[in-house]
Amino acid sequence: MNRKLEILLLPGDGIGKEISVEAEKLLEWISLNSKFKFSVTKDFIGGESIDKHGLPLRNETINKAKKSDAILLGAVGGPKWESIPFEIRPERGLLRIRKELDLFANFRPAVVFDSLTNSSSLKPEIIESLDILIIRELTGGIYFGEPRGIENLSNNEKRGFNTLTYSTSEIERIAYVAFEVAEKRKKKLCSVDKANVLESTALWREVVSNVGKKFPNVELTHMYVDNASMQLVRDPRQFDVIVTTNMFGDILSDCASMLTGSLGMLPSASIKTENKNKCLGLYEPVHGSAPDISGKKLANPIAMLLSVGMMMEYSFDAKEINLLLKKAINNVLKSGSSTIDIAKHNDKVLNTEQMGNKILDELDNLNND
Ligand code: NAD
Repeated sequence: MNRKLEILLLPGDGIGKEISVEAEKLLEWISLNSKFKFSVTKDFIGGESIDKHGLPLRNETINKAKKSDAILLGAVGGPKWESIPFEIRPERGLLRIRKELDLFANFRPAVVFDSLTNSSSLKPEIIESLDILIIRELTGGIYFGEPRGIENLSNNEKRGFNTLTYSTSEIERIAYVAFEVAEKRKKKLCSVDKANVLESTALWREVVSNVGKKFPNVELTHMYVDNASMQLVRDPRQFDVIVTTNMFGDILSDCASMLTGSLGMLPSASIKTENKNKCLGLYEPVHGSAPDISGKKLANPIAMLLSVGMMMEYSFDAKEINLLLKKAINNVLKSGSSTIDIAKHNDKVLNTEQMGNKILDELDNLNND
């Protein structure tokens, strides 16, 4: 690899900034210890961008994102910006960058590390060795449907409304991604919808079934979202890959996060596949800006570091670096070091920076083995 890979880093707000520092250190480690070299450019998104530029995301930032090889994002939002109009809230920056880059496939793995089997609120025998992948459609559905808004009806009466739409092509492209991924894993795909009440997701079920005919070796099942949320906590290991709509995926993946012990453990990748060999990706933890712990050095950086790992695997085809990183994290956790959100009784509790450094030290150890 001769050329430096251009990474756009958007730390965002709250703990987004704190965990981004650790991600930068990991990028430096990879630069020093592999053939991949990075050039990191930072920019603003979310509340900080509103404070500096009056908008949660500027066109300049979108252009930089389009030109970069991959984008890393911390988190956006916080109480400071909760009373401003919806159209310019921090979260709109996030929705806009996903939409402008057409990052329609959102991968949310929920993997239970051995040492965290006891950190989940579920019994160890239910979540032991869990490794599932939720694929969420990211650029359609109710988060983007028009019309939307809040209108005045009479003196004290208002009406809030949103629109849930899905077209055949939107469903088809996410279904293809899901089947292709399922084919490389356990050849099991569960499509989650609410086809019994919502027409848009009845179409979802029909289109996914049609695409399924092209993947006869993948076992396709359908589940209503209310049942799926119950099954996820009753017996999560019955699933391997789940594909679902934007809003259902948002909710189910937060639910899955508690299986793994903490939101601070869950990375994600949002991808647009242009052809089999090229994909543009935005990588970010599933969690938000955590205003309750922001500035206290309590944030778990692992979801952000695992997002860097996903970037190496999905954007740069370096699965071995992601595997090495996961091994280093597992070893650190097994050795009894943790952040406060995943700490067990006798663990040594580290702050954000100490956890980041500990993982880099373990990467050094593994590299020298
Ligand atoms: P949150 O994910 O920020 O926090 C939920 C809970 O999990 C909090 O108790 C928090 O302390 C804890 N937590 C989250 N990440 C953690 C980490 N890395 N280490 C340790 N603990 C962690 O969700 P919220 O409180 O509902 O939202 C706060 C703000 O973040 C809101 O403005 C919301 O809109 C925004 N948000 C942004 C994103 C994003 O940027 N992708 C996602 C969700 C929420």
